[in-house]
Amino acid sequence: MAWNTIVKGPAEKASAVVGDYDAARSAFSWEAARAELDGLPNGGLNIAYEALDRHVARGRGERVALRSVTKDGAVEEFRYADLTVRTNRFANLLRDLGVGRGERVFSLLGRVPALYVAALGTLKAGSVFAPLFSAFGPEPVRTRATLGDARVLVTTEAMYRRKVEPWRHMLPGLRHVLLTGGMSASAEGCIDLDAALPAAGADFAVVPTAPEDMALLHFTSGTTGRPKGAVHVHGAVVAHHATARMALDLLPGDVFWCTADPGWVTGTSYGIIAPLTVGATMVVDQGEFDAERWYGILERHRVTVWYTAPTAIRMLMKAGEEPARRHDLGALRFLASVGEPLNPEAVAWSHRVLGRPFHDNWWQTETGGIMIANLAAMDVRPGSMGRPLPGIDAAIVERTPDGGVRVVDSPMTAGELALRRGWPSMFRGYLGEEERYCRCFAGDWYLTGDLAMRDADGYFWFVGRGDDVIKSAGHLIGPFEVESALLEHPAVAEAGVIGIPDPVGGEAVKAFVALKPDWTAGDELRHDLLAHARRRLGPAVAPKELEFRAGLPRTRSGKIMRRLLKARELGLPEGDLSTLESDER
Ligand code: ATP
Ligand code: MG
Repeated sequence: MAWNTIVKGPAEKASAVVGDYDAARSAFSWEAARAELDGLPNGGLNIAYEALDRHVARGRGERVALRSVTKDGAVEEFRYADLTVRTNRFANLLRDLGVGRGERVFSLLGRVPALYVAALGTLKAGSVFAPLFSAFGPEPVRTRATLGDARVLVTTEAMYRRKVEPWRHMLPGLRHVLLTGGMSASAEGCIDLDAALPAAGADFAVVPTAPEDMALLHFTSGTTGRPKGAVHVHGAVVAHHATARMALDLLPGDVFWCTADPGWVTGTSYGIIAPLTVGATMVVDQGEFDAERWYGILERHRVTVWYTAPTAIRMLMKAGEEPARRHDLGALRFLASVGEPLNPEAVAWSHRVLGRPFHDNWWQTETGGIMIANLAAMDVRPGSMGRPLPGIDAAIVERTPDGGVRVVDSPMTAGELALRRGWPSMFRGYLGEEERYCRCFAGDWYLTGDLAMRDADGYFWFVGRGDDVIKSAGHLIGPFEVESALLEHPAVAEAGVIGIPDPVGGEAVKAFVALKPDWTAGDELRHDLLAHARRRLGPAVAPKELEFRAGLPRTRSGKIMRRLLKARELGLPEGDLSTLESDER
């Protein structure tokens, strides 16, 4: 594969936390990374203490921790000192209710300030926080609350009525429902959180959790099947902190906007914990995606570091260049993307239109934090996920017949992406699925289930999820490469590619394409797109069939659900759709 490296000037690299990749890699140790945090006075380690109290203890309590933007654009600010007191009250409330260490506190909330207070207050109390995405319906909420043995649920009355009350009697272990944003007298068996908090004590001694104590329960996106509940521990905060500094170039005083919802791991690791441990100001938008709104937020809040996802970037591209040019985005210093492969076209677009390239990085719910990234100090190779962070060993491996794995050394050879176990934010289990957890490991290696390649300089290139890869006439075809080629065509807004049975090749490539505004689907355009793909990819890899759709099926975290395209194409069962969001056909 050829690539056009974006060579960055010294000024663009100057602010980097990591000055030189190789030097940082050899100097790095997780012990030293832990020493950058304070730890509890009595020797324990607690995520919430590192996020809030330690800043207050060090005289930084007056800084703004959270700037919350409501749907209608109003702004509410919370200093580190404010959040420290509010989370103390929340922890005291849990204690008063008899909620114990290790017990699960679920949230089902939009990105309102109460969500952030509940998350960090729960961690202070030594209980386990399990965030759910607020758009989930009753069934996905019930299955996750059951699997996670929810003791407490924090939500609003409207969501409680629709999504929890119908099945609450089936879950007697769910002892307390806390409602924020107002509560009517008829909400039986619930507690008015907004009234209870001011009555709870303002001082709280953070529970001295040990690094291996369970802190978070995070459900995966459900892109490939039934979502799994990944268990994370307090020690993960060492990785949240260090990786945010290295991969997001995040510094104290930065204005940081992570657009992910805390219902997904990105929205917790980097939408709550990491920016606070670093001492940044985080912007949280309670509204939904809208190009004009988003550019407005970047401009008005002088966002310096921005972390978003390819789906959003593709939507910005679809909205055209004009809205971007109308806003002053001059405060932006570093742009990062995660969640799905970032097409080279999107990197080139942002470099041209926003004045900065997006830096792709790769990780999973299971890894708890960023593992591979295009660091600020590195030149960007559009289409590559970047290089493993200092402290992370990544390799391409091949499974061997004896159940082990072998490292593949030859460059640009596709194989499974594996990570050497032992970084602090690695998941410690899939709740209730011990066997599935064990199957993720071979000796020293954690097997990610993603296929990738490594080039001679150590950059990693995403090929596809193990389940999505297409085998055609002896070739291994990654959907990403085909989709990226289609996206280069001016008509294409989104593309999703699957394998369909083919009598000759075993499998053939079929593409589903959504068009930009102003383009009309038709046979002529179809032929044009297929010819474009053949020119770019060659006949062995290019799609044989192409179908137009209004949009592609996506998970609520914004990932294209190729397995659903495939199930429908082949008339197979559609599987777990609890995380399906948009599905315009
Ligand atoms: P499930 O495991 O339930 O199928 P999921 O894997 O989508 O869902 P997440 O943990 O939210 O759940 O997503 C991690 C996955 O997202 C990665 O394994 C990878 O397939 C994809 N991904 C994340 N970042 C990138 C990236 N930069 N490039 C390519 N793929 C990425
Ligand atoms: Mg996964």
